[in-house]
Amino acid sequence: LKRMVPEETPILGEPVSAFEREFATQVGTAHAVGVGSGTDALVLSLRSLGIGDGDEVITAANTFAATVTAILTVGARPVLVDPDPDTLTLGPDGLVRALTGSTRAVIPVHLYGRLCPMPPILEVCAQHDVSVIEDAAQAHGARDGRAAGAFGRLGCFSFHPSKNLGAFGDGGAVTTNDSELAGTIRELRNLGQRRKHEFIHVAPNSKLDSLQAVVLRVKLRYLDRWNTRRREIAAFYARELAVLERDGVLELPELPRGEEHAFHLFAVHSDRRDELRQFLKEHGINAGVHYPVPPHLQPMTRGLGYGRGDFPVAEASARRELSLPIAPELDDAQLHFVCKNVHGFFHA
Ligand SMILES: *Cc1c(COP(=O)(O)O)cnc(C)c1O
Repeated sequence: LKRMVPEETPILGEPVSAFEREFATQVGTAHAVGVGSGTDALVLSLRSLGIGDGDEVITAANTFAATVTAILTVGARPVLVDPDPDTLTLGPDGLVRALTGSTRAVIPVHLYGRLCPMPPILEVCAQHDVSVIEDAAQAHGARDGRAAGAFGRLGCFSFHPSKNLGAFGDGGAVTTNDSELAGTIRELRNLGQRRKHEFIHVAPNSKLDSLQAVVLRVKLRYLDRWNTRRREIAAFYARELAVLERDGVLELPELPRGEEHAFHLFAVHSDRRDELRQFLKEHGINAGVHYPVPPHLQPMTRGLGYGRGDFPVAEASARRELSLPIAPELDDAQLHFVCKNVHGFFHA
């Protein structure tokens, strides 16, 4: 009977705790807590710090909607900052201008896999006693000294299948060196239970699924190799498309040194973005747009009082950004084919 009715259910079982240990080691933090999605990683991180009504949280105006959704979900006010035009990440100057007496946290977003300038951000936040929650949903394995997710008080990851470390469904994790916060997030992901039958918070059921943990444990072993291939692809595009940048028709992302960039996306910018996208589509190449409408122009943020023209860099990027294919499984012939067609479009 014992064998037929295992004491351990597949909920938060060994695969989840093993993945949490291995992921924490990979990121270089003391703890990783598996949750239901990247969005929940952000929501539970904010809640673990007690952030809610009346609090302000600063983040980048060009982020994926979920960052802003998470801030709104806990009842706090998202304070958006236009990103640095060269890196499209949150810079310390914009951050300083957005700080008020109500600022409780900053969420730097390592957009497209590129690290925000973390040392100056951490310095400003330390001076103002503001917590840093990294949105590392696009930056698994990006590192500059430390890895994405190990700079802030909390690091938030998504394992959506499209990300650099993707499960076969939804999943997420929070990384931290703070044992108390890790403990609170373990409670918050599990209906607010401190121990079985003791419910101390009103909280969702948002656990990392065991089947996803099994998948993630295998894929985690390949993450660094896959990211290396992503950087190779980025260097390939940069080389093959450089002449278009010189001609002023296409802007390419910077290639920072070392492993700083995880190249979740290879985001180029062009005034003819929509035509180029259509042309590539007709030639069998899927290029995405990340993202066509920035959060401050979405219906969900209507109550915040933002409008068109408030964040020119984010708005121009929404209008001009195109993501060229950058999956580690792409081979050089496929990359040549992409480049040949991008050239074909501009030389036609
Ligand atoms: C994907 C993503 C999220 C949300 O992750 P989900 O797992 O889809 O909830 C949050 N922030 C950024 C920057 C993302 O790219």
